Amino acid sequence: MQAIHLLTKRALKGDLDALRKTIQFLESYDVPVAKFAIYSLIYQYAMNNIINLKEECEKCGGKCCKSGLPVPVYDFDYEEMTKHIRLKLEKKNSIYLIPRPCKYQKGWTCSINSFKPYACLSYPFATEDEQIEVIKNYNGKGVPDFNVPDFCTAGKKVKALMDSLIKNLRKEKGREPKPEEVLIALLNDKRR
Ligand code: SF4
Ligand code: SF4
Repeated sequence: MQAIHLLTKRALKGDLDALRKTIQFLESYDVPVAKFAIYSLIYQYAMNNIINLKEECEKCGGKCCKSGLPVPVYDFDYEEMTKHIRLKLEKKNSIYLIPRPCKYQKGWTCSINSFKPYACLSYPFATEDEQIEVIKNYNGKGVPDFNVPDFCTAGKKVKALMDSLIKNLRKEKGREPKPEEVLIALLNDKRR
């Protein structure tokens, strides 16, 4: 399991090959939650690597790091982080936690950006508190309608662009687009 988590982190840091391998791994599970995770990963990939969100995040001032539930730091995150900094974190139910406001936030930026936890890379398209209702109502058919908090203008920008790509694909194919089709449309999109 550790290996797939590390692969997912590599994917979210921009490794397209790792993204495709992670999607392939998830496709071997024919259950709604795995399908949700696949589409969610593509949105996360777009958020971290494809769409320029500097202006939105700077204007926002980094609200996602200031409030909300503590950030979970899984064992694979912990291992990576301890290679760079000395960590002293509380553990709850066997998971390390970083309370918010996060002590690693400097201004609106993250001072540990290159080795921040998975939960930060996946925000807001996988965090349980944002997507719990979406996951609960998702039947495994098609692209989920992800929830983005109103204050997260960067997430809203990603969702708007992805939704418009998906709308075009639905029109063109007359069905729900497959994950690889969404990914290719994202990589080929010239509007960003
Ligand atoms: S990701 Fe969203 S909430 Fe976080 S800093 Fe950017 S705009 Fe703000
Ligand atoms: S680790 Fe970085 S991205 Fe994550 S909450 Fe803290 S400041 Fe924000």
